[in-house]
This record gives sequence, structure tokens and C-alpha cells, in this order.
Amino acid sequence: MKLVTYQSEQGARTAGVIGDRFVDLHANDPVLPTSMIDLLRLGKDAFGRVNDVVQHGVPLRKDITLLAPIPRPGKVICVGLNYADHAAESGVEIPTEPVIFNKFPTSVVGPNHPIVLPRNSNQVDYEAELVVVIGVGGRHIAEDHALQHVAGYSCGHDVSARDWQLGKPGKQWLLGKTFDTFAPFGPYLVTTDEVSDPGNLRIQLRLNGQIMQDSSTRQLIFSIPKLVAYISNVCTLEPGDVIFTGTPPGVGMARKPPVFLQSGDVIEVEIERLGVLRNAIQSEL
Ligand code: ZN
Repeated sequence: MKLVTYQSEQGARTAGVIGDRFVDLHANDPVLPTSMIDLLRLGKDAFGRVNDVVQHGVPLRKDITLLAPIPRPGKVICVGLNYADHAAESGVEIPTEPVIFNKFPTSVVGPNHPIVLPRNSNQVDYEAELVVVIGVGGRHIAEDHALQHVAGYSCGHDVSARDWQLGKPGKQWLLGKTFDTFAPFGPYLVTTDEVSDPGNLRIQLRLNGQIMQDSSTRQLIFSIPKLVAYISNVCTLEPGDVIFTGTPPGVGMARKPPVFLQSGDVIEVEIERLGVLRNAIQSEL
């Protein structure tokens, strides 16, 4: 299934997608909650009911505004240097354990929402990433059943201010990655039944239509199950937490000359089966 969160007059609401139509879940079945996190808390047992609404419910008018599938996740966890050739282009060793950092939930925006270039950075870069959405929470999750804790996947964009991430004392990865609007993801949460192997998806990023990154999640150093297990050894994962799983090669800072984002640019992240996440770049007013 494909699920979205959209902006209704009553606030953020969850809908299912069938073809090019959106069906509000709660409006068609009051047992289903309005928020995606609450829906995930019901577990996969609710998915039969959701599927029934998507098939038989009354669709919304077409011109809705999509938000991120989870507009305010509890945790936004990120993985650095998780593609071998991206580690090489960054001039660092291939890590022997996952490199984990995070963004604050306030950096999340949805599809078509502008990415705002901060006044205090002039090295804003792009990174296409597969996003994992946690369905069933847990601590010390074993790698061999980690995928049972995953609700689905989404396209993500780990926007990165390189002058903050790398140029500040101590390397401020968190600050460089967590400016407002620096964690777009969407447009859909695609549930795991539609993605048989998250470790074999083509991933591409286009800047103004030009392909800048083109790879496959086959190239991930640390697999999705390994990442879920590793992170859950430190903190409890909860429904709706999201994991940005790292970017393939081709980022702007590694190019000669470097490419940094400018006002008016349009970035598209496309991942096989997961759709296209499109955001335009805008200067901070
Ligand atoms: Zn990244």
C-alpha cells in the first residue's frame, strides 16, 4: 500500500493512495486514526481495514497538499558514509561500524515544500537517501527479524550545509544537517508488502533535470536489518521513527568544481517503487 499524510482543514490527516486518487482513512472508517503514527501503532493488523477503505472509500478532490508521511517523527536518525564509493569521494575510510547522527524533527518537510537556504551557509549540498519508517518499536532488535519492525519506505533528501558539517570546530554534523527544511521525505510511505527487497532498489537524484546521483541500495555497506539492529542496541525505536540510510556517490561537494544549491534549483529524488520526492530551493527571506 501507499499511504500519505495531507493537510486538511482539520489539520494533518492520513490517506491511502489508489491510482491517482487519495482516500481519507478516518473519514471513511472512524476506527482508523487521523495520524500516521497512531495508525502505525495499531500494527499490521489494521492494514486489512486500511486496504478495504482504499479500495471502497470515497476519494478526495485531487488538489491536496501532501505533508511528509510522518510530519513530526519522534526520531530522525541518519547514517553517514553508508555507500563505499561515497566514502571514497568524501576522502574517508570505509567505516567498520555504522556512522550514526541525527536531525531534529523540526527539519522535516514534505514533498513540494521549499528547501530554504540558510542565510548563514553558502555550501548547501544534496543527498538522495532511502528512508526506513519504523512500524513496531523495540530495543535490542535482532538483525534476523529486524524487517518485521519496519512499516515501509520513502524517498528522502538529507540536505547538508557542508560549511557547518565539516568546516566548524569539532565538525558540527548535527547542526549542518538540521537546519529547518533539511529533512524532506515522501511523497508516500510505501508499506513493506510492496517492497520485497529494500536492498535492491535503484536510487537517483536529479538537479534541474540533470542526473547527479544514480546508484542502487545494493551498494549499502550496512543493510537495513543491520542498521535497525545496531541503532536499537542504543535507543528504543518507536512507531514512526525514521532512518535516513545514507547517500550514494555524486554529491555536490565532491565535484570539481563543487556544486552547491542555488535559489530556484529543483531537486528530485526518485527511488524504484517509492515514487519521486520533488522540492525547490529557496533563499531565506
Ligand atoms: Zn546523508
